Amino acid sequence: MNIFNSLWFYSYYLIPIAVIWGIYLAIRTIRHKKSKLSRKQAVKSGMTEPPSLHPVIDHTLCLGCGYCINACPEQKSHQVLGLIAGKSNLITPAYCIGHGACERACPHKAITLVFGTEKRGIDIPEVKPNFETNQKGIYIAGELGGMGLIRNAIEQGKQAVESIKQANINNNNADGILDVLIVGAGPAGFAATLAAAQHRLNYITIEQDSLGGTVFHYPRGKVVMTAPVKLPLVGKVMFKETTKEKLLDFWKQAEEKSKVKIRYKERLESIIRTEYGFEVKTTQGMYQSRTVLLTLGRRGTPRKLGIQGEDKPKVVYSLIDPAEYQGKHVLVVGGGDSALEAAYCIACEPETVVTISYRSAAFSRAKEKNRQNIQRLQTEDRLKVIMSSNVVNITDTHVEIKQSERIIKLKNNAVIINAGGILPTGFLKKIGIMVQTKHGTP
Ligand SMILES: Cc1cc2nc3c(=O)[nH]c(=O)nc-3n(C[C@H](O)[C@H](O)[C@H](O)COP(=O)(O)OP(=O)(O)OC[C@H]3O[C@@H](n4cnc5c(N)ncnc54)[C@H](O)[C@@H]3O)c2cc1C
Repeated sequence: MNIFNSLWFYSYYLIPIAVIWGIYLAIRTIRHKKSKLSRKQAVKSGMTEPPSLHPVIDHTLCLGCGYCINACPEQKSHQVLGLIAGKSNLITPAYCIGHGACERACPHKAITLVFGTEKRGIDIPEVKPNFETNQKGIYIAGELGGMGLIRNAIEQGKQAVESIKQANINNNNADGILDVLIVGAGPAGFAATLAAAQHRLNYITIEQDSLGGTVFHYPRGKVVMTAPVKLPLVGKVMFKETTKEKLLDFWKQAEEKSKVKIRYKERLESIIRTEYGFEVKTTQGMYQSRTVLLTLGRRGTPRKLGIQGEDKPKVVYSLIDPAEYQGKHVLVVGGGDSALEAAYCIACEPETVVTISYRSAAFSRAKEKNRQNIQRLQTEDRLKVIMSSNVVNITDTHVEIKQSERIIKLKNNAVIINAGGILPTGFLKKIGIMVQTKHGTP
């Protein structure tokens, strides 16, 4: 080969290959840098603990192909996974909701899904394959039993009712005692309710809040990733990617068409075993039932303040859409992350007047980033904070806040109470259900 031929060879083959390789390396370096930065921010703002089921990545098996990253449905809105130094890593664990798509997508079997971390354990009740707990007659389905996601919750709700039907097979309902009392109307409880109606069981469903459970509390317009599923009395539902609003509308229509009866704004208070089954006390009354199906989810019950006016429609316990509060006088009660995030988002909406009332002297439980955001808005005079205070009265037009010995009266259109929640684990233990704390268990 003479010199001209070798030049031809270099310019036609090697140079383009070198350019493509160079572009690939540059993109890879930028992506890795971005992941590192996001990871740093997640650590700084305390977003390092996944809420429940999440991946653990074995770096001896991971080849950094990135299939897991592309497969994660939450990746569109948050950087959950990313590559650092050629390996996949959980970047913002707090945003992982346990779809498990990463595990399925990994061609090298480098991903295991686990519950809880070394630092933060997850309480999972012990449930048999037929969804019955160690307490005969009490069943658990959906996320409360550890298995999150809408489709899983729906499947479990249906299957739990089939098991209950088998257990009730010899009863003729002559005694008027319920076959099953279903608690919760999230995806699991709603599917269980439809199944109970389809099987002609004598049932009642109670729900402390609204149809849809956790889905109802997603931010406005959230993209929901799910999978086709068969709903009793409704048929095949083909949703794969939809929005929160469309999904809730569909369930509402299914509720109306199927004529199932769900008693809203009714909370479970206690379950006592009797000779025929259970006596179940709720905020609205007492029921006798042979079995109880708990589909309570894991969000818990919001803690109430127990003050006058708290039952007014303008009082809510979570922020769904900040834009709803434009031009309004809003009081946010609480000093944790949810309260500070809610106050910040609302104060960023046009013409809002936002006040935070917190019973302690400092926001010591909240993340650094949230504290800084609030401090900045306070300095800019866009938000007011009343520390060491308690709300004592809510009227249609005002709120009254007690600080030391004085009462501060503020004009008010809306109140958001973020005073924490009572998690269901304590209740489960109280009624004798065995609960195991998982620290990274597959
Ligand atoms: C931000 C976020 C995004 C998500 N995105 C997706 C997604 O895209 N796709 C997906 O598949 N999953 C997603 N999930 C997970 C999914 O929402 C849950 O796994 C699912 O809602 C669990 O259903 P569930 O019926 O078991 O519980 P929940 O939906 O939590 O419902 C439980 C119900 O029980 C009620 N309840 C609780 N205690 C009582 C009581 N004492 N008395 C009466 N009623 C009570 C509650 O009010 C609630 O309505 C997401 C979760 C979050 C937090």
